[in-house]
Amino acid sequence: MNHPTHQSSSDWIARSLRSVWHPCTQMQHHEEVPLIAVSHGKGPWLYDHEGRRYLDGISSWWVNLFGHANPRINAALKDQLDKLEHAMLAGFTHEPVVELSEQLASLTGHALGHAFYASDGASAVEIALKMSFHYWRNAGYPNKREFVCLQGSYHGETIGALSVTDVALFKDAYGPLLRASRTVASPDARNAVDGESAQDVARRAIKDVETLFEESGDSIAAIIVEPLVQCATGMAMHDPLYLELLRELCDKHHVHLIADEIAVGCGRTGTFFACEQAAIWPDFLCLSKGISGGYLPLSLVLSTDQIYEAFYSEDITRGFLHSHSYTGNALACRAALATLQIFREDDVLNKNRETATRLMLEMAPLLEHERVTNFRQRGMILAFDAVEPDAKRASTFARRFFTSAVENELLLRPIGRTVYLMPPYVLDEEDIVGLAARTRTVFEKVIAE
Ligand SMILES: *Cc1c(COP(=O)(O)O)cnc(C)c1O
Repeated sequence: MNHPTHQSSSDWIARSLRSVWHPCTQMQHHEEVPLIAVSHGKGPWLYDHEGRRYLDGISSWWVNLFGHANPRINAALKDQLDKLEHAMLAGFTHEPVVELSEQLASLTGHALGHAFYASDGASAVEIALKMSFHYWRNAGYPNKREFVCLQGSYHGETIGALSVTDVALFKDAYGPLLRASRTVASPDARNAVDGESAQDVARRAIKDVETLFEESGDSIAAIIVEPLVQCATGMAMHDPLYLELLRELCDKHHVHLIADEIAVGCGRTGTFFACEQAAIWPDFLCLSKGISGGYLPLSLVLSTDQIYEAFYSEDITRGFLHSHSYTGNALACRAALATLQIFREDDVLNKNRETATRLMLEMAPLLEHERVTNFRQRGMILAFDAVEPDAKRASTFARRFFTSAVENELLLRPIGRTVYLMPPYVLDEEDIVGLAARTRTVFEKVIAE
């Protein structure tokens, strides 16, 4: 393919730094940290205008599942473009949104049969919080209006979602704007002490929830969790037992369970939904990121018949009065349908099991490394923490690692001292070996600096 390159990467970078305000970035750091101008992508690789390439080891912020410029998703979108790009979803409906809602309901065994759409993950979280509160008001419990989140939780950065987020970097500056929420212990298996197992940590963490629900259940609408892996805090993993015990407590104390599967859904942890590993369903399940294959902004909240029916009435004010202009966008839904079709056609969940095992084998030499702790894996997420005793070096570890990775044709962005791999599902044998080898090389280099 011939890609016109009228301008070089350095031209695009200079123009970008003048006019684009980049997300989650101290712009001044770009005086040292490279900005990369992407010209095109193919499979797990991104290319710049000079043809330099980068293996996308973090799925472009956890969204990409089946590679960049995937031929099957491209074809579906091209077909959809000539039919319908978008129509408002109030008073109208269309084939892609109906098909997608039915297929998602079916993937939950019809436990969660009602899909409400938005565009980004944070909006899905806002919707789940508002729906939970409104459900309790419709049901005659208007005092149930508090939300509970976990230590280290991340649910997005709009004001409502940020109020149930517990990552200092994102939250501290905006604290005065936020609604207070209750925070309970994280079941993070790294908290194990004195030979505790991950299940022991889960049992210990759940006691915190039990105490809170016993004291304040009457005023709590919902608890929100990232099932199995709290990603943004640094890939904190927990045992499925936690979710099982949490479901029981939520039932006992009449508190909604919101599963934020924005990052962990769509096969990322080994099952299509992370909750499946605990054999539970939440009252609300939020999806975004991978659901459109990483192509278009799409998010949604799945909920139960019981929730849906509490809003069903003659009275407009009992309805869920929430909308986004692009709710149920036809192109995004079509990308999602193409994504789900690939899951079926390629037996993706089984294939991922092999990829994950291969990746673990290639990374295994780091298991015994004296500068590595907490080596862990759940499905297609593999992570470890670097030991950097020097505080100053620890604070620059992530940036140094990123810079060195880029020099080694690798896109990885550690979170603090946590290095993680969260690649697209289309790695071939050479990619797997290359991803692991590059990661190990970069790690050795960065800790030796
Ligand atoms: C990314 C993420 C969000 C927010 O999604 P955006 O599309 O970035 O708003 C919410 N929850 C979790 C668990 C996420 O990983």
